[in-house]
Amino acid sequence: MWYPESALTHLECPHCGKHFNADEVQSFCQDCCEPLLARYDLVSARATLTRESLVTRPSGIWRWSEIMPVRAPAFRLTLGEGATPLLKAVNLGQTLGLTELYIKDESANPTGSFKARGLAIAVARAVELGLRSFVIPTAGNAGGALAAYAARACAQAHVFMLVDAPMSNQIEVKMFGAELVLVDGLISDAARLAGEASRLHGWFDVSTFKEPYRCEGKKTLGLELAEALSWDLPDVIIYPTGGGTGLVGMWKAFQELEQLGFIGSKRPRMVSVQAEGCAPIVRALTGNNDRAQFWDGASTIASGLRVPGVFADRLVLSAIRESNGTALAVSDDAILICQRELAASEGIFASPEGAATLAATRQLLASGWLNKDERVVLFNTGSGLKSL
Ligand SMILES: *Cc1c(COP(=O)(O)O)cnc(C)c1O
Ligand SMILES: [Zn+2]
Repeated sequence: MWYPESALTHLECPHCGKHFNADEVQSFCQDCCEPLLARYDLVSARATLTRESLVTRPSGIWRWSEIMPVRAPAFRLTLGEGATPLLKAVNLGQTLGLTELYIKDESANPTGSFKARGLAIAVARAVELGLRSFVIPTAGNAGGALAAYAARACAQAHVFMLVDAPMSNQIEVKMFGAELVLVDGLISDAARLAGEASRLHGWFDVSTFKEPYRCEGKKTLGLELAEALSWDLPDVIIYPTGGGTGLVGMWKAFQELEQLGFIGSKRPRMVSVQAEGCAPIVRALTGNNDRAQFWDGASTIASGLRVPGVFADRLVLSAIRESNGTALAVSDDAILICQRELAASEGIFASPEGAATLAATRQLLASGWLNKDERVVLFNTGSGLKSL
């Protein structure tokens, strides 16, 4: 299948506005210590990326080729990621009294989590720019996804994973032929070690938001959601937040879709769900700060939410605020109860992070923040099978 080429023009620091050459390897804005965002010529993209043209394109992340950063078709790496179902949760909706409850179920992605979307794009673009060795710090799923896409691209992956990561993650990394280094500490310790290894060995560091393209892969969550709802965005999106790539990616997707003429200015209220044992975004939002302070002693069974230092904190917080959204923390006990409830009532065995969104929904209904007739989308970001 032929897809039009990428309309990628440059990378931009959202803080100082400085432009960076997108056809050279970039990490983040060193002046501001902020992520770089990919920018596209949306006027030219608009000529070919239309509702009509989408109808004829196969599903998956590459159908959005104009607003994806890979230029040469040969580098469009895939393991069949994306195109996940948006399921109406009728049973759960009835129990909760919500008339329009949906679950975007990411568990069918390669390696069982939505990390596949980001790493497919990040590895594809890096390989296109000539890189062949990667390093990543991970609580589990990002390492598995990197290892899979590196294998597919004939590249090397070095994965710094927390020792208490689920066994499925440790095994998959080794199965994919990557190097697995177990780290006794927090994700911030793994990130430091990965950074040192990157400088020492010249491996490209694909840590969350320390390179520009994982966010572009996560953007496809928002694109697919908009398309599945016939370009009428939901009222509320409830998203389990660790590093925040999905939340920032979706917010960016909506901006681009508006400029492309697919949607209007209406936006969902973005809800960030964290764990009580690690809730830096919730604390910053309730404390009216534009930065999130490091969360000491982070602990939760939802390993994807155990991110005490959020590199893209400014972007995450501004997306929540601009959307009139909110952030809230849920307990591990509530996560486990909701994991069971979600599985038994809808047939979806969610990851703990995904189950956290149901716990949050209950809280938001109880406080009156959610109205029963609103269209609400929960994100199940991974399969429960990965965290057995
Ligand atoms: C990484 C991860 C998250 C958190 O995602 P961010 O985009 O980093 O906020 C949530 N759920 C699962 C299953 C994850 O692996
Ligand atoms: Zn900057």
